[in-house]
Amino acid sequence: MNCAYCGFYDSKVIDSRDVNDGIRRRRQCLSCGSRFTTYERMQPSSLFIIKKDGRREEFNRDKVLTGIRKACEKRPLPIGSVDKLASDIEAELYQLGKVEIPSAVIGDMVMAGLKKLDHVAYIRFASVYRDFADITALKQAVDTLVDSDSEISRPAGQLPLLPTEQLKGLAKSKRRNRR
Ligand SMILES: [Zn+2]
Repeated sequence: MNCAYCGFYDSKVIDSRDVNDGIRRRRQCLSCGSRFTTYERMQPSSLFIIKKDGRREEFNRDKVLTGIRKACEKRPLPIGSVDKLASDIEAELYQLGKVEIPSAVIGDMVMAGLKKLDHVAYIRFASVYRDFADITALKQAVDTLVDSDSEISRPAGQLPLLPTEQLKGLAKSKRRNRR
């Protein structure tokens, strides 16, 4: 791995430790002396994702992570929770023991994970993932949240989601935009 600061090709490992499902290495560039961290993880046998249009694509953890990050942008989440969700989903996928998995399965896993993590991120992801193709589905997702909010399922320390009225307004304005 090249140094992120000067681009030099070689570095020495100054510390390494096991973290969850991989190894974290603290490195020092042999040219400029900058320190940086690399993570090494097991790459189990290939896993392919069957996309909506039927094409197959090798599973890419970064893509999942990017999707989750986008949904969680500017949300007050604990450091590492986004990465942890991506790792959990990756682990869950491999545990299924299948070679091919429909992309919808991953989407549902992300939805389920975000629902527990942050309701705003959940709605954001749902709106992109479901593509608002079906406004009823979005409304149902929102309604489910509002319902479950009245129970005790809200993650600890999380502020309430938008008031119900605002959500209804949101659904309405989306509908208008469609026309
Ligand atoms: Zn360097």
